[in-house]
Amino acid sequence: MEPLIACKDVSLGYENREVANGINLEVYPGDYLCIVGENGSGKSTLVKGLIGLIRPLKGQILVDPSLREESIGYLPQQTEAQKDFPATVYEVVLSGCLKRRGFLPFYSRKEKLLAEKNMEKLGIGEIAKQCYRELSGGQKQRVLLARALCATDKLLILDEPVTGLDPSAMTEMYQLIRKLNEEDHVAIIMVSHDIMNILSQAKTILHLKQQPLFYGTVSDYKKSEVSMRFLGGEENSGND
Ligand code: ADP
Repeated sequence: MEPLIACKDVSLGYENREVANGINLEVYPGDYLCIVGENGSGKSTLVKGLIGLIRPLKGQILVDPSLREESIGYLPQQTEAQKDFPATVYEVVLSGCLKRRGFLPFYSRKEKLLAEKNMEKLGIGEIAKQCYRELSGGQKQRVLLARALCATDKLLILDEPVTGLDPSAMTEMYQLIRKLNEEDHVAIIMVSHDIMNILSQAKTILHLKQQPLFYGTVSDYKKSEVSMRFLGGEENSGND
């Protein structure tokens, strides 16, 4: 089986300043990888590399050909501008099909059905006609998740998907992501600060501090010195 996405000795950065290096990873269908590390350790930069926003300074990022055609489902960090987006839930979800359809002027029936299916899957079918900006934080994240699923159901990349949510919305969001992973075999790459919840969610962990400090299964991570230092707050002190 070929990986959906792989990094081979990748360095990433800005204007030749390296902010992350030595990254090797492989994500296969059904995987669930969490990227953890303190602020400024290069997590979002790695995500930018994975979704093709920046090119590696060194090494290679290999993307499965089927994903190159469909695009990767990407849930960005929430920004104030996105929160105020003046469109209905349905419109936001449907816009996830943009890459699939290229420059055709109208959405096809197939795309509309896909948007409806993903809204049902994420429990937002009933609020399809509501304005996105009037929703709660948890509902907005569901909408963006449904939108990302319209791009592809093979691989979702989520950058801090629970930040700013209240505890019950956070739990719901984790349950949804897990369901997509377990029942629909959607591969997940998620950046998160929420290490305690992640350990019961993910299958593999990449702990980044410019370089990978750990890359392997969750059970090995729990036993590692890296996680003990991180969980003990040593490395994380001063953040969040
Ligand atoms: P994390 O997501 O782990 O908090 P980032 O990938 O955002 O870390 O940042 C890693 C480093 O790259 C930081 O030193 C940050 O200042 C720098 N950085 C992030 N974005 C840019 C950018 N657009 N231009 C230049 N430097 C950046």
